[in-house]
Amino acid sequence: MVKKETKSECEDKNCPIHGSLKTRGRSFKGVVVSSKAQKSAVVEWARLRKDKKYERYEKRRTKVQVHNPECINAKEGDNVIISECRPLSKTKQFVITSLVKDKVKETPTKVKTEKKETKKQPKKVENKSE
Ligand SMILES: [Zn+2]
Repeated sequence: MVKKETKSECEDKNCPIHGSLKTRGRSFKGVVVSSKAQKSAVVEWARLRKDKKYERYEKRRTKVQVHNPECINAKEGDNVIISECRPLSKTKQFVITSLVKDKVKETPTKVKTEKKETKKQPKKVENKSE
């Protein structure tokens, strides 16, 4: 047997892959903001809301509590796909179905790409005196 990163089995009843949990309804792609609680995580994603009065879109964020199955075990900063399911607790009605490896552009990440040129280019001095 070759061990893979994702466990082939887990004891989580509410796992969409191994358990009896069925997902239905909407699904979203978001970023894990918090994974402090066991088997739970907070996922956030951006959406656009139309403002009727000013006829433009504004960026809103949606934050939900999701179930974090043992075999997926998403951590903060992970991009995940979540799916709606039956209410698991007072605040959880979504479950993480898979991890996404590509970076989601929706989260603003400050990446400074400063290319420092070490080569000093000599300034061209034009002799205007004829
Ligand atoms: Zn599982």
